[in-house]
Amino acid sequence: MNTPDYSTLFEPVKIGPVTAPNRFYQVPHCTGMGYTHPMTLAAMREVKAEGGWGVVNTEYCSIHPTSDDTPYPHCTLWDAQDVRNMAAMTERVHAHGALAGVELWHGGRRSSNLHSRHAPLGVESLPTSNDPWQSRRMDRQDIENLRAWHKAAAARALQAGFDIVYVYAAHTYLLAQFLDGDGSGTAQPLIERGQLLRDLLQETRDATQGKCGVAIRIEVDNEDTSTTARDDLLLSLSPFTDLFDVTVSDYAQEMGVSRFVEAASFEQRIGHVRQLTGKPVVGVGRFTSPDTMLAQVRRGVLDFIGAARPSIADPFLPAKIRDGRSDEIRECIGCNICYAGDGHGVPIRCTQNPAMGEEWRRGWHPETVPACHAKETVLVVGSGPAGLEASHILSRRGYTVLLAEAEEELGGRVRREATLPGLSEWIRVRDYRVNQLNTHAAVSIYLASNMTADDIAATGADHVMLATGSHWRRDGRGRTTNVALQGLQETAVLTPDDILAGDRPDGPVIVYDDDNYYMGSAIAELLASKGNAVTYITPSTMVASWSTLTTEQPQVHQRLAELGVTIVLNRSISSFSGDELELACTYTGSKSRITCSNVVPVTSREPNDGLWQALKERPNVQRIGDCNAPGIIAQAVYDGHRAARELGSAETGITVKRERVCL
Ligand code: ADP
Ligand code: SF4
Repeated sequence: MNTPDYSTLFEPVKIGPVTAPNRFYQVPHCTGMGYTHPMTLAAMREVKAEGGWGVVNTEYCSIHPTSDDTPYPHCTLWDAQDVRNMAAMTERVHAHGALAGVELWHGGRRSSNLHSRHAPLGVESLPTSNDPWQSRRMDRQDIENLRAWHKAAAARALQAGFDIVYVYAAHTYLLAQFLDGDGSGTAQPLIERGQLLRDLLQETRDATQGKCGVAIRIEVDNEDTSTTARDDLLLSLSPFTDLFDVTVSDYAQEMGVSRFVEAASFEQRIGHVRQLTGKPVVGVGRFTSPDTMLAQVRRGVLDFIGAARPSIADPFLPAKIRDGRSDEIRECIGCNICYAGDGHGVPIRCTQNPAMGEEWRRGWHPETVPACHAKETVLVVGSGPAGLEASHILSRRGYTVLLAEAEEELGGRVRREATLPGLSEWIRVRDYRVNQLNTHAAVSIYLASNMTADDIAATGADHVMLATGSHWRRDGRGRTTNVALQGLQETAVLTPDDILAGDRPDGPVIVYDDDNYYMGSAIAELLASKGNAVTYITPSTMVASWSTLTTEQPQVHQRLAELGVTIVLNRSISSFSGDELELACTYTGSKSRITCSNVVPVTSREPNDGLWQALKERPNVQRIGDCNAPGIIAQAVYDGHRAARELGSAETGITVKRERVCL
């Protein structure tokens, strides 16, 4: 078979006065690191440049203390110290021949300014995103100040070594608020409201002395303005900008999870910008296939293949395409766990790439691992995400690996969960690792091998990793109730494992979600789509509440509503009689009853740690993944990776390097 010619993707492209070495463009994306983690950030961005991304951008970078998004981590270019902070990143990006870009940002009324305690600024005086206070209505002087701050930050960006400087007019932040007007209905035409952007673009060019590419990040559609008005705006901005970084107005679409949004799905909405403006265009679309990338460039949709998530899941994606190793790409699964780090205010993590965010603090590299400490054999029991990742890394380190799996197929929970509605891309967690294992000679895989403690001893392996997973509890114990719920051991109770194994309730069913991530709603969706009358009950205030962190919560609620699922919030189950459930209000404790004979409790999981209990006194045995502590897939992958990387080393994973001033 001929290797496709991807050389077009590796052509240099000019962005005003600077030239990107290729078309791979890591768009600005949040990292949960920001100004408090400059070394963590620099090392992470460096790995992207090393992996072949021709342009590597910062996350949102505040221009002034009136734009403070605490507790969400963001960069800052407020002063000389920030210049040093950000230079740490540009130096490392430049070391690999890539361009460094900075997304100058003012949050306007979206920023609560919790840390700086300045009054938020806004076109109107309206509430901030999350807090019970409002913005100050900006006057002419405020606008002058904004321009001066932006200009000064652009000058600092040049000092810090950036090659591309953004004017950021998207995602409902201040400049997008200007485009939206003051909501009075008497606003100026859009093109006139764009004057501030034209001023900022010109002033950014002036401040950077014509040495930097000037980019604008902007939405190319908007439900409140006509396509013609948007296009006229883009045309008016064109002479002032070197690059359009285009997005769509619906954030849940732009960075939608794979459960609800397909890859490369924005072409219809952004495809006209390049021709309209005559300027280079970058856009995203969770691209992981080089053929799709090439097609977008060839069709004239994009000049640059924009990526946040694909560059997180595989910082070496461009290098792998360049070197004819596309089959080794660790493809993003579209789960948005990376985004949850920012919401939690902690450094980014990724389901597919366990080294993400650990480049500096643990010294992990996504593509290289230390050689094994001795020519020894490791038995891994269980082939879910933890066992597969551990086997992959151990074999890469040079250990001889025996991988035993009770089932007839590899993949553990991922194999089953990827069959849930919308989650098919999650199978990439298994596929990437199985592909890798197939290239390692020193791995022996034993399917249909349900190992006992004696079997394990008989292998004579030097080390044993128990990756035996977990199973969903049947008795309703969980976050809300830590004792078994009365009656929930009845036969009419099916666990998520039963459903995933193909069991189906007959007739109406209650899905009780005390887990709050995807499992409860996905089971509800599955059963509703198969014709069961489903009632979804949760003690939480909203459906799948944890998934606000992955952006998908509104889509989950909408999907259940569309399917006719009855949604009951703020109720916990207190008992089950076999055909009737007693519910308690989370706030008042008041009781109500609901008739139903089928219940699926999605509450918590029990580690499958029987082998661990039998073997824990023996040397060189450890438990990993869900067997160690049940969690999300990202944690299982991470734990398998950690255990495999640290085997035979003094590292324990317990010490976490933090950024502090060293005197
Ligand atoms: P994790 O998320 O920690 O990787 P999973 O639940 O996805 O865990 O996978 C655990 C895997 O371990 C399952 O595929 C299961 O069949 C397998 N397993 C459990 N017990 C044994 C055993 N005694 N011998 C072999 N495989 C086992
Ligand atoms: Fe993709 Fe999920 Fe990794 Fe984010 S966390 S980059 S969505 S695989």
